[in-house]
Amino acid sequence: MTRQLFVTTALPYANGPFHVGHIMEYIQADIWVRFQRMRGHEVKFVCADDTHGAPIMIAAEKAGQTPQAFVAAIAAGRKAYLEGFHIAFDHWHSTDAPENHELAQSIYLALREQGLIAERTIEQFFDPAKGMFLPDRFIKGECPKCGAKDQYGDNCEACGAVYSPTELKNPYSALSGATPVLKTSSHFFFRLSDARCVEFLKDWTQTPGRLQPEVLNKISEWFGTDEAGAPKLADWDISRDAPYFGIRIPGTQDKYFYVWLDAPIGYLAALKGLMGPAFDAYVADPAVEQVHFIGKDIVTFHTLFWPATLHFSGRKTPNHIFVHGFITVSGEKMSKSRGTGISPLRYLELGLNAQWLRYYIAAKLNARVEDIDFNPEDFVARVNADLVGKYVNIASRAAGFLAKRFGGALSADLGVEGRMLLDALRAHAGTVAQLYEEREFGKALREVMALADRVNEYVDQHKPWEIARQPGQDAALHDVCSVCIEAFRLLTIYLKPVLPALAAEVEAFLQVGPMQWADAQRALGRHTIAPYRHLMQRAEAAQVDKLFEPPAPAEPPKALPGGEDIAAEIGIADFAKVDLRIARIVDAALVEGSDKLLRLTLDAGEGRLRNVFSGIRSAYAPEDLKGRLTVLVANLAPRKMKFGVSEGMVLAASHADEKAHPGIFLLDPAPGAQPGMRVR
Ligand SMILES: [Zn+2]
Repeated sequence: MTRQLFVTTALPYANGPFHVGHIMEYIQADIWVRFQRMRGHEVKFVCADDTHGAPIMIAAEKAGQTPQAFVAAIAAGRKAYLEGFHIAFDHWHSTDAPENHELAQSIYLALREQGLIAERTIEQFFDPAKGMFLPDRFIKGECPKCGAKDQYGDNCEACGAVYSPTELKNPYSALSGATPVLKTSSHFFFRLSDARCVEFLKDWTQTPGRLQPEVLNKISEWFGTDEAGAPKLADWDISRDAPYFGIRIPGTQDKYFYVWLDAPIGYLAALKGLMGPAFDAYVADPAVEQVHFIGKDIVTFHTLFWPATLHFSGRKTPNHIFVHGFITVSGEKMSKSRGTGISPLRYLELGLNAQWLRYYIAAKLNARVEDIDFNPEDFVARVNADLVGKYVNIASRAAGFLAKRFGGALSADLGVEGRMLLDALRAHAGTVAQLYEEREFGKALREVMALADRVNEYVDQHKPWEIARQPGQDAALHDVCSVCIEAFRLLTIYLKPVLPALAAEVEAFLQVGPMQWADAQRALGRHTIAPYRHLMQRAEAAQVDKLFEPPAPAEPPKALPGGEDIAAEIGIADFAKVDLRIARIVDAALVEGSDKLLRLTLDAGEGRLRNVFSGIRSAYAPEDLKGRLTVLVANLAPRKMKFGVSEGMVLAASHADEKAHPGIFLLDPAPGAQPGMRVR
């Protein structure tokens, strides 16, 4: 039976570029979606920018832009990441799109119809220095539940508690630092404490298969009563006062929906943006399975507020909420709001293969809410051992013989052992599929790599490189190499959800159409393959290390005269390690074969001369330098270059953008300085 799947990832807040945590979630969902499609199921896979709320309003104001222009610029940057990591959403939308305004307003009106909207006067924090009501995210203080410091006004990053900002201990305004004062305002509430909501949510959350056990466990505490006997599930404040960037509440002039009301509705708006008029029938179809991939920090919104919003407005509720943990980098915690760790865009810019990261993340993911760690050494080792050493190697060991000796034609016989091996590989299709279905990607990949091990054992036993040298063994060589290629094809099918671009290259190499899961049960038989081209490079540690070099600031504050920011602060002891000496340029000469370098012969008062290559040829003629004094880094380790050994470095100034601001300026000590004097 063909399943109809409506799949989303969480909507990223449009106040900054993606971090590696976003990419991990997209990779997880994308693998699951690609797997479902390979099984013949129909998937609508959508996402959108979450655009509303005070943080974006304030950030846009700071940038001197309208909020619309601000989020449009963020949205324009998404494509490079999504294409770069092969994340194939069918559609990318915005919660500020007309579909979302309409849907949010109609859902609100339906909830009102149900008697589930209450209007109450509340006391809210007001920033006396700024003269405005403070949004939750701009009030900080201590978590009322666990006491963690510097927590935001709506939920706690340390313990996950959701609360109202007035419950924070020792609050302060993150905008001005002022202690906020309480002021009254009229707000709208979604009556989650209503018995109908509590009953519905108890039932909804406990439906088997809907939530992971640990998620259910965590949210079950919301269904109890507090010491006073009141239900813990409190009414939810869904309105905010102007000024606010959001969707206006129908029937008001100056009230807007709180961003967390309209953000999940953005899932539906994105689907509507994809489907147009076919949307209404599709979302109402009970056969459609609605699936949301989210992080563990937004569980409460997705398992309580969101299903209740949908159900009581007469809509279908999600079938599955798949929650994942965070990604740490070398054990260091990533934070959604502080966004540290490796930069996904830098990863791509460095030319690192996106599929290495897809594979590495997949190999660590399971169906539980567990954090995973990106460890650079482990990454390099895993990618090289599994993808290059075990998998790609199978094709590269066999393809050459097939091309040279058999014109690329495969044998249809394969031999008894070969057929047994391939049958064993085919027999695992169901197990691997089940693991993908259950999001046990790590187990699925271990299973596939165990199969690759069996293929490599077969290759080591039959040694095609030895058979190839023996006369009269053509048929045996043909069978062994053909078995390898068929085994490689089966492994590629099993890896295709994780390695989509590589699988496409393999399809071209094998001269087959896009491979589906069912293709594992068919044999290639008599078939001719194309010449083999190398499919994947090994990961190099030096290349991966570059990910951790200090990144350039995302937005330099203002162009400095020199074009670059001041380097990280150092102590005097660090500076003292650099031995700078006055040196006389005794001789200077052009370097044959280099249009950048000059060869300098320097006297730094050591009783010997030094040879230093310097990239200043564009600025100085050799004859202009002879006899001049300059400054030498005297204790720099000698560097072997193509033209000889360079024993130090002379100091020169240049702009960071040499093209726009040309010029190299050699340092010149004031008259009187002598070779060998230390610069300190
Ligand atoms: Zn807490």
